[in-house]
Amino acid sequence: MPKRAVVAGGAGFVGSHLCELLLDQGYDVIAIDCFVTGREENLKGLARFGSKFKLIRHDITQPLPPSLDAEGPFDEVYNLASPASPVDFDTMPIFIMRTGSEGHRNMLEFGRRHGARVLFASSSEVYGDAEKHPQDESYSGNVNPIGHRGCYDEAKRYGEALSQSYWREFKVPIRIARIFNTYGPRMRPDDGRIIPNFFTQALKKQPLTVYGDGTQTRSFCFVTDLARGLYLLMRSQETRPVNLGNPTERSVLEMAETIKRLTGNAVPLKRLPLPENDPKLRRPDTTRAWETLAWKPEIDLDTGLALSLDYFKSELARDPSIEASVIGKT
Ligand code: NAD
Ligand code: UDP
Repeated sequence: MPKRAVVAGGAGFVGSHLCELLLDQGYDVIAIDCFVTGREENLKGLARFGSKFKLIRHDITQPLPPSLDAEGPFDEVYNLASPASPVDFDTMPIFIMRTGSEGHRNMLEFGRRHGARVLFASSSEVYGDAEKHPQDESYSGNVNPIGHRGCYDEAKRYGEALSQSYWREFKVPIRIARIFNTYGPRMRPDDGRIIPNFFTQALKKQPLTVYGDGTQTRSFCFVTDLARGLYLLMRSQETRPVNLGNPTERSVLEMAETIKRLTGNAVPLKRLPLPENDPKLRRPDTTRAWETLAWKPEIDLDTGLALSLDYFKSELARDPSIEASVIGKT
């Protein structure tokens, strides 16, 4: 019998790549998505899998539809549902908190009913503005619960704690992926995160919006590497959190220069204030992922950015009215 999986957030950027990988592995997959940040077009390539792929439009903060239970039993539940861009932290903080708490509880209860493993897409944001660098999973973080990022960071921390509690009390086999910045095709060009913003702005010959002095760093993982990491984590026996990210660390200014070079457009920089609690340094220690999953990223930054450039060009050709989303302007 093929394995059966549910992917909450399956119409999103990462979720759609994960659905594709699972289908390629022979799984039957049901995606649940309310399309708050997801897109139908992310799933259009999955039509080739016929009835092995289904989509249910549903908000996971609401009780899951009985028709979903009727499709079971399921082996694996991946919960990737959550808005993820800092632009969303201003516009829908309560929805983000409810999705990570009530929504994740619905997914854990669903997994419990089906005897399934339940993976939670957590984030490097649980480390907050880290005082330890690089960040390994033993670091418990430096998060401001009432700052700009508090709704997202605390939702992810709660989701981890709730997962852990379902493991302790009910022995639901949980998996916790601490995902670091991920990029690639199917990101919305107006999503607001650095790579879509800089590509959209550079391709439209607009100034690149640099928040703060641009010395803050991030480490960028290509999306197919991440999807493979999520898949391997689910197959492993590891119930502790696992960092999934590419340790290649770059400053915001370095990313601006790289994207100017790749697009061939020497646009100026536009300095804007640094959003509250924007982490200064971020790089994953991926020792645990290597030791427990034999996972490491395979796509280097230059290759991944070249693939992304082609994608963002095609998106802007399809809809030239798309603009970058800038914090404070949405
Ligand atoms: P995304 O916004 O593209 O995907 C999230 C998907 O979840 C969307 O399709 C959205 O419509 C759906 N969704 C949100 N709330 C929902 C709800 N209540 N019910 C049903 N569907 C809902 O974002 P992404 O970048 O693909 O992120 C996927 C997951 O990975 C998120 O949980 C995010 O927090 C986590 N993550 C991503 C990154 C990254 O760099 N991409 C980093 C850390 C963590
Ligand atoms: N950033 C920026 N300009 C933008 C978008 C992002 O300078 O138009 C910076 C942001 O301040 C942060 C980094 O890029 O330091 C990564 O931001 P992103 O929103 O991609 O992810 P996160 O902050 O959640 O890691």
